[in-house]
Amino acid sequence: MRNSGYFKDLYVGGKSLIIGLGVTLRTCFLPQVTVHYPREKLEITPNYRGHVELVKDPETGGSRCIVCGMCARACPSGCFTVKGEKKEGEKKKTLTVFKLDFTKCSLCGTCVETCPKGAIRYSMDYNIAGFTREEFHYDLIKRLEEKG
Ligand code: SF4
Ligand code: SF4
Repeated sequence: MRNSGYFKDLYVGGKSLIIGLGVTLRTCFLPQVTVHYPREKLEITPNYRGHVELVKDPETGGSRCIVCGMCARACPSGCFTVKGEKKEGEKKKTLTVFKLDFTKCSLCGTCVETCPKGAIRYSMDYNIAGFTREEFHYDLIKRLEEKG
């Protein structure tokens, strides 16, 4: 003859199953709050802080950066490599290298606040993934050109 513990377990298991199915059934009729990512995407909040990116100058189509290097000096994590060169006949430097090591970035915002030209901002890129650290070393000039 089976002991009373067996019937108790059977009762508890059955009750738990019915409660669980009840929750599932109720949820089936609730409004959907999720999306079928990545086929569907939600609109990102304007306050989102993605990795830092260069801002396009609407007049020149290039970067607004004047190669002052303030962002690189202000960054507490040494994320930036910024270089420029003065071309013949030009008074100002032209930006030639602007790289960000996003693996070190804490998104503190110091660089964005420091830039005197508003040449950098937070991107809205949240869809970033990679298998190596090098994939998070961004060439921001290239990214600016790719964005069109
Ligand atoms: S957000 Fe902060 S840590 Fe990231 S690159 Fe800018 S200054 Fe450096
Ligand atoms: S602070 Fe602004 S203008 Fe100066 S190098 Fe950095 S991005 Fe360019």
